[in-house]
Amino acid sequence: MKATLTFSLDYLAQVVRDCQRCPLHRSRTNLVFGEGNPEADLMFIGEAPGETEDQTGRPFVGKAGQLLTQILAAVGIQREEVYITNVVKCRPPGNRVPTKTEMDACWDWLAAQIALINPFLIVTLGNTPTQKLLGTTEGITQLRGRFFSWKGNIEVFPMFHPSYLLRNPSKKKGSPKYLTWLDIKAVKERLSLLRSRNRKS
Ligand code: SF4
Repeated sequence: MKATLTFSLDYLAQVVRDCQRCPLHRSRTNLVFGEGNPEADLMFIGEAPGETEDQTGRPFVGKAGQLLTQILAAVGIQREEVYITNVVKCRPPGNRVPTKTEMDACWDWLAAQIALINPFLIVTLGNTPTQKLLGTTEGITQLRGRFFSWKGNIEVFPMFHPSYLLRNPSKKKGSPKYLTWLDIKAVKERLSLLRSRNRKS
């Protein structure tokens, strides 16, 4: 079972590798497909690769990625347990927000990743993946910290993007960092509950 899933994600990565569906392929150094456990119960979706990710071909390895790893570790979640990717797989020039056309062009790849991994819970990081998955224009400040049912059998939980936390370092009660601490604890608790309800074979 595991070998088949691994192969399928690996195969998808090969298919996506030379993608030229949108203009972002012209400026990329490396396509950043995603990485992690192909059978993860918990998946993280960010906006787009940044400079370090573009250079390395790996998601969330810059400063924001290091903070994400620390946030996970704070509740005992190892990065290797989860799967991490972005809405678009190629870096937008100057780290701008990807356009709707770019996100729509890349959607099939993300949808296929989600279908293959079939997690219990998806954490969307920041406005872009949250609004894309939930089909809303509401902002992350309103949506974070709430569980949403998505396509019947998966839950979506929006959190602040770690790069936003880097720009807002206060840990005071009510600050984005403080709220993120509450959010990741909620993720951990919800994941335990979902696992106990739906033991994967
Ligand atoms: Fe293809 Fe997505 Fe890269 Fe655009 S961002 S070229 S759709 S992989």
